[in-house]
Amino acid sequence: TRTPVNVTVTGAAGQIGYALLFRIASGHLLGADVPVKLRLLEIPQGLKAAEGTAMELDDCAFPLLKGIDIFDDPNQAFEGANVALLVGARPRTKGMERGDLLSANGGIFKPQGKAINDHAADDIKVLVVGNPANTNALIAQAAAPDVPAERFTAMTRLDHNRAISQLAKKTGADVTDIKRLTIWGNHSATQYPDVFHAEIAGKNAAEVIGDQAWLADEFIPTVAKRGAAIIEARGASSAASAANAAIDHVHTWVNGTAEGDWTSMGIPSDGSYGVPAGLISSFPVTCKDGKYEIVQGLDVNEFSRARIDASVAELIEERDAVRELGLI
Ligand code: NDP
Repeated sequence: TRTPVNVTVTGAAGQIGYALLFRIASGHLLGADVPVKLRLLEIPQGLKAAEGTAMELDDCAFPLLKGIDIFDDPNQAFEGANVALLVGARPRTKGMERGDLLSANGGIFKPQGKAINDHAADDIKVLVVGNPANTNALIAQAAAPDVPAERFTAMTRLDHNRAISQLAKKTGADVTDIKRLTIWGNHSATQYPDVFHAEIAGKNAAEVIGDQAWLADEFIPTVAKRGAAIIEARGASSAASAANAAIDHVHTWVNGTAEGDWTSMGIPSDGSYGVPAGLISSFPVTCKDGKYEIVQGLDVNEFSRARIDASVAELIEERDAVRELGLI
């Protein structure tokens, strides 16, 4: 029998956490034959709700779930962690300046990065979901100098999945027919969903659509503003779809991308495609054997270049701001 994989989830009592934990415990994160132990981190006010969720997890009698522990100390929560999902973050509240948001999140992600550095397992893989995810990932990474930098990733898979769904709707294709879509840049309104290399049932997506105005005026803004549209409709932010994307991100990272396809992940740049090295930016990546690689050699047209550059400019600003705050 396999040793259980330790999965640490922060913000476990939040709404994404609630949608996430049951799927991890039922085998969707790593595979239907991989036992897991959950290590939940919450702030003290969240502990009681986390205990309630743990009771429900017990009540599911999941065959793969080999234990649940709850902590309010990151050093304990990340002890032996093989996978860390950093979901809990300080949301932007009304009237909050960006600097305040970044420093509040620095107070969360810096100690968590340090705790990962000091206590996680050697094979630790980190996914940051809590916003601003790319920059929070950078803060955690900077606090973990002994962990290989590429283990810190940020989630753009929800944007990726949203873009696939919009393309399927527009063209009548099945979502499984859509391949090689790319989200570039920041997980924010500046993100760039790129269809120029995407395929729909084996044909170039941009050619199938044949409507650059739709791409610029409908598709890109619909994908980028989908989160706000869901808040408007649901009266609460997207939680189940965010949790689903977190599951997809880790599952693909661990189990690989399909032959001929790729996915989108926020990862430390190696300078590819003119993205300054070290920035955590979304790229097209293939995954194999628990490792990812940036897809190289894609031709970036002028339309794409301008949009990638704009999103990367925002990442540079965020990086410079956290640098100024002494967080990296
Ligand atoms: P959610 O579970 O809804 O969201 C958590 C984080 O995910 C937010 O920062 C949110 O950013 C981000 N996020 C990323 N993508 C999405 C998306 N598509 N839709 C919605 N959110 C997204 O927040 P809750 O307030 O319900 O729960 C947060 C929990 O975290 C609370 O229980 C709190 O106690 C806990 N917490 C734990 C910490 C810790 O463990 N140390 C630290 C801070 C909080 P955005 O809101 O900007 O969209």
